[in-house]
Amino acid sequence: MEPIISTSFLKEDENERSLRPRTLSEYVGQEKSKGNLSVFIQAAKGRGEPLDHVLLHGPPGLGKTTLAGVIANEMGVNIRITSGPAIEKAGDLAALLTNLNENDILFVDEIHRLNRSVEEILYPAMEDYAIDIIIGKGPSANSIRLDLPRFTLIGATTRSGQLSAPLRDRFGVTLRLELYSHEELGKIVTRSAGILNVPIEPEGACEIASRSRGTPRIANRMLRRVRDFAQVCGSGVITRELADQALNALEVDYLGLDALDRRMLLSIIRNYGGGPVGLETLAATVGEESVTLEDVYEPYLLQTGFLTRTPRGRCVTKQAYDHLHIEYLGQMEL
Ligand code: ADP
Repeated sequence: MEPIISTSFLKEDENERSLRPRTLSEYVGQEKSKGNLSVFIQAAKGRGEPLDHVLLHGPPGLGKTTLAGVIANEMGVNIRITSGPAIEKAGDLAALLTNLNENDILFVDEIHRLNRSVEEILYPAMEDYAIDIIIGKGPSANSIRLDLPRFTLIGATTRSGQLSAPLRDRFGVTLRLELYSHEELGKIVTRSAGILNVPIEPEGACEIASRSRGTPRIANRMLRRVRDFAQVCGSGVITRELADQALNALEVDYLGLDALDRRMLLSIIRNYGGGPVGLETLAATVGEESVTLEDVYEPYLLQTGFLTRTPRGRCVTKQAYDHLHIEYLGQMEL
């Protein structure tokens, strides 16, 4: 079985599409970003121009792809979806760009993974709506400029720090998506249950929300798994007790921590005296890739205050000791 916490897109998330909000008013939370976006969208529509290029950043599963779709819908334009690693050659990007219609949106997920030569095509495309194509080789090579339709690039990234400065500077709007509150996740779970036709009590939605670590993708995934338990072990209705029973069976604790979270915290406590320990060392100790720890596990552990990041590495806090029922004897110097 796939891990429930993984925030990356899993096979079972394929039916996620049906759960995606289509309008800004359906899109729960992220009030600051939504407020700004609705002004920019209205202004661009009023002028009959494409929206300025938008960079969305934040941990996986927080709704970047969904928001790009919402923007396209609100602007009344088409969206083409691709990702950094999928665009291998400059020619691939040129083909994508020349096939856009006026005001269309090109969504590039994992934009920090674009390679250099592809990225360089993007600069004039974003700035002047044109690309330079080199024809021929050697001294007889010629560069011709091809005009593009005016379009909007929406880039999504989990690691804005890895974006090159020239690329980052070409985005007019940068929005940071935040982890969701329990209340917001409760709304998302209730809405998804409605779409999936699953009867759910408000306390059941609340239980799932408080254990889904601020992430809608995890909330929706938990809802589907709890639904199975409700169908087989209960009356089909998701109650608080049932959600609790199902999530305990899936080894997700009452704060949403799973076995790997606990292994990570315990390893820092037992092997490194509570920290500091470098990310790579920690990853090797728990047998997981460092990017997974950094992108998927750390944001929530930092938010709950169980982990801190210092220049010398990661440290576990007293709260984490308390949560794991381990006596805190102060930070030990190794
Ligand atoms: P990302 O692109 O950041 O990895 P997605 O946009 O794919 O995340 O979102 C994952 C799922 O979570 C979506 O299918 C959608 O159903 C749900 N979701 C994300 N954000 C919201 C939101 N603000 N309101 C309601 N559902 C959301």
